[in-house]
Amino acid sequence: MTVPFLDLHAQYESIKDEIDLAIGDVVATSSFVGGKYVDRFEKQFASYQQSEYCVGVGNGTDALEIAIEALQMPAGEILVPANSFIASSEAVTRGGHDVVFCDVDPTTYTVDLIDAQTKVSDRSVAIMPVHLYGQPCDMDSVLEFASKHGLRVIEDCAQAHGAEWMSRRVGSFGDLATFSFYPGKNLGAYGDAGAVLTDDAELAARVRMIANHGRLSKFAHELEGRNSRLDGLQASILSAKLPHLESWTERRREVARAYRQRLQGVPNLILPGEVQGSRHVYHLFVIRTMSRDALQAYLRERGIQTGVHYPVALPKLDAYSRLRTADEEMFANRSDSELLSLPIGEHISEQDVAEVSEAIVDYLSKDRSL
Ligand SMILES: *Cc1c(COP(=O)(O)O)cnc(C)c1O
Repeated sequence: MTVPFLDLHAQYESIKDEIDLAIGDVVATSSFVGGKYVDRFEKQFASYQQSEYCVGVGNGTDALEIAIEALQMPAGEILVPANSFIASSEAVTRGGHDVVFCDVDPTTYTVDLIDAQTKVSDRSVAIMPVHLYGQPCDMDSVLEFASKHGLRVIEDCAQAHGAEWMSRRVGSFGDLATFSFYPGKNLGAYGDAGAVLTDDAELAARVRMIANHGRLSKFAHELEGRNSRLDGLQASILSAKLPHLESWTERRREVARAYRQRLQGVPNLILPGEVQGSRHVYHLFVIRTMSRDALQAYLRERGIQTGVHYPVALPKLDAYSRLRTADEEMFANRSDSELLSLPIGEHISEQDVAEVSEAIVDYLSKDRSL
């Protein structure tokens, strides 16, 4: 038996009729770019995320770039967690700012504000909390930190659709928030797609202009923007999938609970933390072990697919050698060799969890390599 890491085809099969209808509607009305399907999804998603405005864009990376541009900040430094996907920091550089990496917390994998306190300077203009793996950042502390240092807040919610900090959806705390609907994300399109959310009408209008050639009407270009729009097919597919997101998320949380029960107390194994009052949506269930590579190989032999997010901490990538922070003493820099993402999603059964957990216990309890 094999346990796949992700199974997009199984998800399609489970809602095939709804998806096929959603695609057919768009094709029948030729609403390919902009139009009613995009408008409808933007309203639905804003409401789901408890934000006032949602602007659909081409992907989650563009969403970050456009959000940063819309804030019109003087060139300066933006604090970014050292464990994330490169898009988070890439957008900072492409926006004309300098990336400053902060450590992440060893329990939650979200930005460590004690480290951020040592990194913030009079050139700092913003902080980008990333709700990594679906784990909500402590947004009360982030907002307090930001207001103390006069920083804008851009929430990277690419992995955190439906996640909550103290009963409020992530993305509704910062100045702007960005989402990705890359196919493998918790809410995934059938291609690239993304969105920027905000409660600020003026910011929402600027985001919309930047994403669509600096215009609000056909040929009135108020500024030079770019082309990064959500297309009708993706919007219609996302509208068909959104009503299922809560049950898919609850299933992810059940799988996480089951892993937790079966893996509690296993030697040489650290489970992800969950914070009281927050809703982790488990885009990824990331464990930590000193025997990561050997365990991953052992699981692979048994047909169990796993992933590593991310194999190299951002400061250690060639792309950031100029910053000379690869050797900085940070948890993020030393833990990247220990991270392992287990299969999670609505395609994972109780049986799968049992099989994966038994294999892990089997391996780690006999592990003599330490
Ligand atoms: C996926 C992801 C992005 C980028 O989204 P794309 O839609 O792939 O461009 C940004 N940040 C994080 C944390 C992500 O996981």
